[in-house]
Amino acid sequence: MTRTAVYTALTLRVRQCGENREASFLTAEEGIVRATVFGGPKSSLRSSVAPFNEGALHIYHDPVKDTRKVSEFDVRLWRPGLRELYERSENASKLSAALLHSHGGGGSWPQALALGSAALDALENAGEESCTRIYLCFLWRWAYFLGQQPDINHCSVCACEIPPDGVLWCRNGELYCVSCGEGRGLFLGPESRRWLDSAQHDGYAAAGKSLDAAPFAQALALARTVLHLGYGYGYGYGYGYGYGYGYGYGYGYGYGYGYGYGYG
Ligand SMILES: [Zn+2]
Repeated sequence: MTRTAVYTALTLRVRQCGENREASFLTAEEGIVRATVFGGPKSSLRSSVAPFNEGALHIYHDPVKDTRKVSEFDVRLWRPGLRELYERSENASKLSAALLHSHGGGGSWPQALALGSAALDALENAGEESCTRIYLCFLWRWAYFLGQQPDINHCSVCACEIPPDGVLWCRNGELYCVSCGEGRGLFLGPESRRWLDSAQHDGYAAAGKSLDAAPFAQALALARTVLHLGYGYGYGYGYGYGYGYGYGYGYGYGYGYGYGYGYG
C-alpha cells in the first residue's frame, strides 16, 4: 500500500503551528485535506504551499503516528495577481474561509473545486471596486451549489410570484412577500434581486455590473444568512429592523456589521 497520495488541490489557508506550518486544501478527491508543511522560510515547499495556489499535491501519510505532511506541491496556478491588490487578496481570503466553513461542499468535490477556482480566477485580474461583487457572486453561486439558495421570485408562505420590481423580507433564511413579511427581517429590494438573478445566470460577468451600497449590502446579507456565515451579522439586522429604524437606517446598520464581523 502506498503511503503517498496525490491530489488536485487548491490551498485555502496556511497557519504557523510551532516551528512548522499547517495547511488546509480543497481537493477534488477528498474535499478538505489538512497537512503539515515542514521547512524554514527559505524552503521551496514553503513558497509553493501558499494560499490560492493550485496544482498536484503529494501528501505522505504516516500510519503509525497518523500524521500527514506535504512532500511535494507541483503548482500549476500561482495567481500572482491576487497578491498585487489588497482588495483582491482580502476577498480571496474571505472566499477561502467560506469554502472551509462549509467543509468544501460536502461531496461533489470536483465541482466545488471548479467553483472556487473560477472565482479566484475572476478575482485575479479584477479592478478594486469589483472584488467585493465577485465575492458576493461566488457566495450566491456557492449557496446554489449547496442547495441553500432561496427562491427570490416567490414567497415561501403564500407562494405568490414576486414581480420584477417587488421586494422581499427574509427571516431565518425564509423569504416573504410584502403581505406575509409584515415588514420585519432583512429587506431585499428589486435592485439586489435583479443582481443576484444575474449572478446566478451570467456568473462573474455580473460582478462587472455596478450595484449601489444599499442593495449590495442587502444581497450580501442574504447570501451570508443562507450560508450561515457569521451569526453576529444576522442578529444585527434583526435588531435594527425590530426596533423600528427606517429603511435607510436599516441597511446602513447592517452594512457596518457585515464588514466588521464573521471571518474568524
Ligand atoms: Zn406571501
